[in-house]
Amino acid sequence: MLINGELVEGTGDALSVLNPVSGETITEVREADEEQIEAAVRSAAEAFETFSMTSPAKRSELLLQIAAVIETHSQELAELESLDVGKPWPSAHDDEMPLTIDVFRFFAGAARTMTGSAAGEYVAGHTSMIRRDPIGPVAAIAPWNYPLMMASWKLAAPMAAGCPVVLKPSEITPLSTLHLAGLLQDVVPKGVLNIIHGRGPTIGDRLMNSSQMEAISVTGSPATGMAAMRAASNKIRHVHLELGGKAPVIVFDDADLDAVAETIRYGSFFNAGQDCAQPCRVLVADSAYDRLVSAIADQVGQIKTGAPKDEGTEMGPLVSAAQRDSVSGFVERARTGSEIVLGGNAGSGPGYFFDPTVIANVDNSSEVACNEVFGPVVTISRFSDADEALKIANTGPYGLASSVWTRDVGLAMRMTSRLRYGFTWVNTHGVATPEMPWAAMKGSGTGCDMSVYALDAYTAIRHVMVAH
Ligand code: NAD
Repeated sequence: MLINGELVEGTGDALSVLNPVSGETITEVREADEEQIEAAVRSAAEAFETFSMTSPAKRSELLLQIAAVIETHSQELAELESLDVGKPWPSAHDDEMPLTIDVFRFFAGAARTMTGSAAGEYVAGHTSMIRRDPIGPVAAIAPWNYPLMMASWKLAAPMAAGCPVVLKPSEITPLSTLHLAGLLQDVVPKGVLNIIHGRGPTIGDRLMNSSQMEAISVTGSPATGMAAMRAASNKIRHVHLELGGKAPVIVFDDADLDAVAETIRYGSFFNAGQDCAQPCRVLVADSAYDRLVSAIADQVGQIKTGAPKDEGTEMGPLVSAAQRDSVSGFVERARTGSEIVLGGNAGSGPGYFFDPTVIANVDNSSEVACNEVFGPVVTISRFSDADEALKIANTGPYGLASSVWTRDVGLAMRMTSRLRYGFTWVNTHGVATPEMPWAAMKGSGTGCDMSVYALDAYTAIRHVMVAH
């Protein structure tokens, strides 16, 4: 762990880190104990006094240095990520590393482009101006599905804004983030970055409830988001949440169905479906239903599952036995009342594999259609017109990713204006870029990661008025 500029071993319980491909223990990592959490929090609070006063140019330089360190070490970081999460090597290295690095580079620029209302004489004889100042030390909590990329989202924006961070990666997949702590020890000023290890309900809870943390930033499940809200109700502070999703893929009968099926093959089974924006809930116009089910089954049937570095592996295992069993439970309960077109079973060997699964004829109000499965499972159901598609998509707690597929631009615009989702793709799904917000609505969270809007969570808008 990295606490106050020192690399230290935890003095709490030792937690096993497992290889999802085999179920074997890779290593054990000890958790932070209470004193170490306090030391990390204190260190971030002390660092705030100086880091918040650094110039945007200095912070920009720091973020560029971090990007360069990750780029130099991307091979070993991707190795750890692939080992820890079971990710196919091309995903871990070629897909995730570039975005992880680019997020730091983007925020290096964003640090220097804060915007606000124009200064001026809004009251006669007085000049008003807007300041955007760093909010304070941030408690950041990251999930296990993209450990290093999510860590980059949790770190780059607050550091661009001038806020030191105490970050807790997921206890299931801490290896890449803990390794990054070592790589950055001599790069980041003391206390500006602290990384601690431990379980959520104990170590994470203590971090979020620390009175010295002025903001809480969580990427994780809705339950953890609610725990953050509760912590903020004990002491008022900013809460930024990126939580679960259940992305509808709304397909009209004029859409390019082959493109939809190819996107499902890649996007729904990338990271074994453990993706908050996963295109998992296909809603298709009645007249295109049979054709789309067959095109998706054809594409998904070709997915090769296997170990991360096996030739041609498209999909690896799920992250843990608990996650595999949870996915399996959803599929078993869905067998009554719907049709398993493909897959539906856990792998027979060691490790936490689950077959790529397509379920058709799904009732739009069923559990598997409405709840986040977070695994390699796609459901397909029908709609009769645009209003019905909107009603189905907008019912339910989530509001993260969505997509609309049609060649009719007017229809696409009408749909996007009425969908209650943080982001909507048209004729694609899953393409991300740091300039654009990864935004959440409804039960999927508050605010966004990436883009200049991410700085809102870590800056306070202030008014300064000068009497002439
Ligand atoms: P999780 O909520 O179980 O864990 C996330 C993090 O929260 C971990 O570090 C965990 O230790 C910590 N945590 C758990 N309980 C806590 C508590 N009571 N107090 C403090 N910290 C606590 O989620 P997960 O299983 O790691 O990740 C999967 C979830 O994350 C899914 O719902 C997924 O959609 C969501 N997710 C969202 C985004 C997004 O950008 N919106 C991105 C990735 C994952």
